[in-house]
Amino acid sequence: MQQRPLGNTGINISPLVYGTLPLGYLQAKLTPEEGGRLIRHALERGVTAVDTATLYETYGHVREGLKGFTGEVTVITKTHAADAATVRAHVERGLTELGRERLDIVHCHAARIEDPFVDRAAAIEELVKLKEEGKIAHVGLSSHYIAAVRKAAQHPEIEVIHPLINRTGMGILDGTAEEMAAAIKLCSEAGKGIYAMKALAGGNLIAEARASFAYVLGLQGCHGIAVGMLSAQEIDANIALFSGAAPEEDVWQELESRKRRLAIMKNFCKGCGLCAAACVNGALAMVDGKPQVDETACVLCGYCGAECPEFIIRVV
Ligand code: SF4
Ligand code: SF4
Repeated sequence: MQQRPLGNTGINISPLVYGTLPLGYLQAKLTPEEGGRLIRHALERGVTAVDTATLYETYGHVREGLKGFTGEVTVITKTHAADAATVRAHVERGLTELGRERLDIVHCHAARIEDPFVDRAAAIEELVKLKEEGKIAHVGLSSHYIAAVRKAAQHPEIEVIHPLINRTGMGILDGTAEEMAAAIKLCSEAGKGIYAMKALAGGNLIAEARASFAYVLGLQGCHGIAVGMLSAQEIDANIALFSGAAPEEDVWQELESRKRRLAIMKNFCKGCGLCAAACVNGALAMVDGKPQVDETACVLCGYCGAECPEFIIRVV
């Protein structure tokens, strides 16, 4: 697959970035061996960037995928910590569990933080220190907010942006897809590397997957898209699509007919409401003491599941 320069970082990545969120406990619950086999399948066919996060619990999957692989791979992770000590602990954990001497990119995982340069200032400062110490190569920011992406353009310490964008704007917390596209352009003009998330709105746009990927890949300044993939067939189809090959109609018809949803085992729910409080998309409400999902607002991110002490929420 053709590689693209990731802004001014000096890194080249494949436009298809392996998003590992769906492999882990929040979604498909694959074992590290199962997930690792899929990641390796993609790496051997030209994917050169893998996206994970402390929160996803997929370091074992990535490590398995990389075991013995000699090609160039950019490993990207994220820390959701707010304080310096926890950021450092997350980075140390990433180095150990991923088996790397240095992490290529670590994002301040500020998906739902309106102004990370205020609310996550200590975290960003610590990431910069860790870069100076050689434990991180580049500092990044992941966000669902247009305002945060726009601000990042003015912050030289942020070299890579991971913004949420899709053709309907679903999941963007403060405006439209067009406004996010303008913020992405601004960042790319400032030399940032940019790869997008939620191009299919967590699966909501799966029926129009090809058109949805084309929209995001066509955005000025967007160098790639993180895509969660759960089968070799899906990986192969995406590699072909992202390489500009003619899509295999029968394969894509099957892929585009899949359905995804948020599953909550309500019988085991204790009614604490933590899941609803965690959803900034306003897609979960407590009704009669149990969470109820609004499917028109849910981007199937699985973050509500991460908050549930009973482990009874999953994207399936
Ligand atoms: S309900 Fe859960 S999966 Fe859906 S958008 Fe909210 S946090 Fe994400
Ligand atoms: S976090 Fe879990 S236990 Fe609490 S209300 Fe939500 S589903 Fe129920």
